[in-house]
Amino acid sequence: MRVHTPERPSWDCLACGHLWPCDPAREELKADHDLVQLAIYMWDRLEEAVRDLPPTPATEMFERFLKWTR
Ligand SMILES: [Zn+2]
Repeated sequence: MRVHTPERPSWDCLACGHLWPCDPAREELKADHDLVQLAIYMWDRLEEAVRDLPPTPATEMFERFLKWTR
């Protein structure tokens, strides 16, 4: 069971309060998915976050949600 999950609509981590995905969340997600599954999962989360969060530069969202999955 994952502990470091996002609170919505803030997208802060429920466990540690950092921006989600925090470092422990990234480790949990990497452990639970292969790279393709992880990219698809995080792309879906990114789309949800874009709807929830105030306008945020695309590069910032990409680095937060997808860049680390590669
Ligand atoms: Zn966390």
